[in-house]
Amino acid sequence: MSIKLFDTTLRDGTQREGVSLTTEDKVRIARELDSLGVHYIEAGFPASNPKDLEFFEDFDASELANARLVAFTRARRPNGRAEDDPAVTCLTRLSAPVACIVAKSWKLHVEKVLRTTPEENLESVRDTVAYLAGAGKEVIFDAEHYFDGFRDDPAYSLAVLRAAAEAGATTLVLCDTNGGTLPTELKAVVARTVREFPDVEVGIHTHNDSGCGVACALAAIEAGATHVQGTVNGIGERTGNCDLVTTIANLQLKMGLKVMDDESLRRLTEASNYVSEIMNLTPDTHRPYVGRSAFAHKGGLHVDGISKDPATYEHVAPEAVGNVRRTPVGELSGKNSIRAKAEELGLEAGDAAEILGAIKQREYEGYHYEAADASLALLIGRTMGEDRPLFELETFRIISEKRAGGETTTEATIKLSVGGQRVISTAEGNGPVNALDQALRKAIVPLYPELKEIHLSNYKVRILDEHRATAATTRVLIDSTDGKRMWGAVGVSENIIEASWQALVDGLEYGVNGKKS
Ligand SMILES: [Zn+2]
Repeated sequence: MSIKLFDTTLRDGTQREGVSLTTEDKVRIARELDSLGVHYIEAGFPASNPKDLEFFEDFDASELANARLVAFTRARRPNGRAEDDPAVTCLTRLSAPVACIVAKSWKLHVEKVLRTTPEENLESVRDTVAYLAGAGKEVIFDAEHYFDGFRDDPAYSLAVLRAAAEAGATTLVLCDTNGGTLPTELKAVVARTVREFPDVEVGIHTHNDSGCGVACALAAIEAGATHVQGTVNGIGERTGNCDLVTTIANLQLKMGLKVMDDESLRRLTEASNYVSEIMNLTPDTHRPYVGRSAFAHKGGLHVDGISKDPATYEHVAPEAVGNVRRTPVGELSGKNSIRAKAEELGLEAGDAAEILGAIKQREYEGYHYEAADASLALLIGRTMGEDRPLFELETFRIISEKRAGGETTTEATIKLSVGGQRVISTAEGNGPVNALDQALRKAIVPLYPELKEIHLSNYKVRILDEHRATAATTRVLIDSTDGKRMWGAVGVSENIIEASWQALVDGLEYGVNGKKS
């Protein structure tokens, strides 16, 4: 059995709050999905907004190597004619070879929202499908609210599908538009529908409102659906759509249904991150299969098991989807985690018990090393007597001045010795940490020119005992990069400047002395 993958990230996915894509963004995502090997890419609703129309006018569908480009529209208005409805006719002028037509399949909507008769709704479906099929389009038919409609009046919901199939639709997609149907009920309805339409492909479109978006899609496929719609990372309106990434991995690795070649499957993690990045969404690190934490082993027992046989604590091999196994070090870690981590960082672990003791003490004070590889590597090194500071601090002082009605200016002065020389350096910045960073760099760059390539890429502050308000402990995480790799450093103090200083210094020291990979 072959399953068709239908991606609607560029149409349904853009309904997510806060998401807005330019035409250029859409083109990049479409190319990525195409190279991954999805069968259909639904790129928008051209009649609904000028931006979607612009995409379809600018982008030639023949540029896609694998996927068929889909333009979405609704069935024509009641009591009108498809050939007079611009939302329908505009598709005939576009290069997209596939039309996806949505229509009501729940009587409640037909009567209360469309305010027409059930028979006129069927007529609208017949007319629209026949018109676009007659114009040479492959027609996919989305039956909106199919499961709610079926619960209410199964004969009517089936009649809507029959109208579409008889008019030339080649795929009938059953949509759980409100996302409230659970897998058991959904599976039974899909099975019944598949029996009614043995000669047409039946598809499934689910939402995640009950937390069952992927589960429902898989249940539908078990019941005979052969076409599945979803979005990358489940991005979509409200709680999102069926996550196509998880669905693909499950179909191929768990259900034995080949939907793409193994090489493409190994690009799944990269594709998922790429789409998040273009959509300007921070990737959820806990996504199934492709999240940064999906194969992260923290508990000592788990790390021990993994080191003996990965199958002990992994449901699939991370490489199958292009992910990697990680062993973050935390207070739950055992000596095995320390050895594994030291190895990952290119260090000799030496006395693991002593290092573990040092980590536990620091975690008790509020440090956290899971996202601070640089500070962890330095801590392991220092515990083993390998301490190579870049400079020796004498003092630093920061002055922030706010003038009524004006800007706040900040200046930092730092005194230190570097390479046996005493240096005094002053710099201004847009805030205290920036000023301190500038002054420090000015002082030490002559001896460490490689620091010119290193810059801060992220600065995060977390208050640890929130009930203590301003007296609370502050944890600062600073990510640095040299353009090729990225590393994190952590600092903890009741004083936010001191916490930032620690993370800043660790980040720079690791950049100069750390493992070069
Ligand atoms: Zn939807």
